[in-house]
Amino acid sequence: LRILLVGNGGREHALAWKLNQSARVEAIFVVPGNGGTAAGLAKVSNIKGIRPDDFPSLVKYAMEAEVNLVVPGPEAPLLSTIVGISCFGPSKAAARMEGSKAFSKDFMKRHGIPTAEYCNFDTYEAASKYLDSIEHDVVIKASGLAAGKGVLIPTSKREAHDALRDIMLKREFGAAGDEVVIEEFLVGDELSILAFSDGYTIKALPPAQDHKRIYDGDQGPNTGGMGCYAPTAIAPKSILDQIHKTILQPTIDGMRKEAFPFVGMLFTGLMMTESGPKVLEYNVRFGDPETQTLLPLLSSDTDLAEVMVACTEHWLDAVDIRIEPKFSATVVVAAGGYPGPYAKDVEMKLDVAKEGIQFFHAGTTMVNGTLKTSGGRVIAASATADTLEIAVSNAYKGVDSIHFEGMHYRKDIAHRAFKQAPL
Ligand code: ATP
Repeated sequence: LRILLVGNGGREHALAWKLNQSARVEAIFVVPGNGGTAAGLAKVSNIKGIRPDDFPSLVKYAMEAEVNLVVPGPEAPLLSTIVGISCFGPSKAAARMEGSKAFSKDFMKRHGIPTAEYCNFDTYEAASKYLDSIEHDVVIKASGLAAGKGVLIPTSKREAHDALRDIMLKREFGAAGDEVVIEEFLVGDELSILAFSDGYTIKALPPAQDHKRIYDGDQGPNTGGMGCYAPTAIAPKSILDQIHKTILQPTIDGMRKEAFPFVGMLFTGLMMTESGPKVLEYNVRFGDPETQTLLPLLSSDTDLAEVMVACTEHWLDAVDIRIEPKFSATVVVAAGGYPGPYAKDVEMKLDVAKEGIQFFHAGTTMVNGTLKTSGGRVIAASATADTLEIAVSNAYKGVDSIHFEGMHYRKDIAHRAFKQAPL
């Protein structure tokens, strides 16, 4: 296989790392890649000069390089239309499950998939009137894509009205706020389920829990994700079976029946409420940093490239996705200032990672043999071990091997698991 992998995050480095291990993979071209995919993985090379959203150039490159599997990044839906090349990713129609929260809420309602009660609005007046008519706590969401920032959680009715005004009248998230979803505030623990699907069968990876806030104790502003661990004990086998039966399979079946079958990685964000697991959102791609946590849990004889091909050719039921009976933890190291304005082009030094510890680069570049920072979330250290305690402790040993000025990271990855125990 000759693979075109699009993106430059930690997720893409982790995908390149795992795909590089596959005997059936001949070459992996990463557009544009990062300092981690630039060197050190035998079959992986970064392709310069093509923007990841420059669809015609990507197609041209894919043809010239005789690519036969595309693993799309942020522009997932566009790439799935490359004629004649298999794509591990959704069609434009299927990508609406992520691109429009109003659409995905209506979809869940049609298929009886458990989610928070909600109403969609496309005028400010109607939404504001609705807010006045209800008493329960709400979450207000810009329906379109807003880079994870379009979800507001007001603590009073006044704040709720302010949020509505910000989204719909001040248009703080642009067109993403043309429509809003006002939904019931759910209480519970969150988890992420990443699952492969070929449109018929869906196979999940272990349940993961990420850490979105910048500071310890889940304080401060949201980020792209500061760390992750898996599996989380909040979803034991019986709950995972329930999630499969009441959420994952009905989602895949519903999408197929509505003529936008899903091929690729379905990321479901869930809240474990008193009345069972409920869907918060769908993403139609690998999560970041969940991917950096979960791929190291795939057994060495599980071939990620084979799983992806099985999805595109609809024979996922015949594939065994074997998971090591281990725990995995990822700690993300960010640039000084992140998630606000941050420093770039800072020289980095990495000590050799100890066994069982893996670095996954995100915002790094290799400039004439020197590694430099180039993004907000710079690099992550992931580790697997027989216990969660050891996995977390080893991930932090990995962090100790990362050096650059201004670096900062959370010190409490997996804190909820340690509070909850037993694992
Ligand atoms: P992401 O960055 O995860 O892609 P997003 O903008 O697509 O985020 P959601 O996942 O829908 O949006 O919501 C973001 C966060 O807001 C959730 O992780 C959760 O913490 C919180 N949230 C969303 N919906 C609810 C709800 N109904 N009740 C309580 N909290 C919620």
